Amino acid sequence: MGACGPVSCIALVVAGPHRVLHIVVDVRRENLALTAAIAHELQHALEVLGDARVRTDADIFGFYKIRSLEVRGVSEVPPGLNYS
Ligand SMILES: [Zn+2]
Repeated sequence: MGACGPVSCIALVVAGPHRVLHIVVDVRRENLALTAAIAHELQHALEVLGDARVRTDADIFGFYKIRSLEVRGVSEVPPGLNYS
């Protein structure tokens, strides 16, 4: 699987001319935490799919390595940073 946080992962697959982003979230959480986790991963989807050059899991890793802060071993884009 591609880029993983403590309870979720994203992975990118290229299918012909399309990029397909898989998001896996651990659903064994209470509703509010689960909703927050899904929203968090959807934000990652906007970030990753917003850059057409990102086409592999390695590209995702590089995307966050360049733009992000590392928080408890997990890379995150700082709020307000323009990542496009
Ligand atoms: Zn994240």
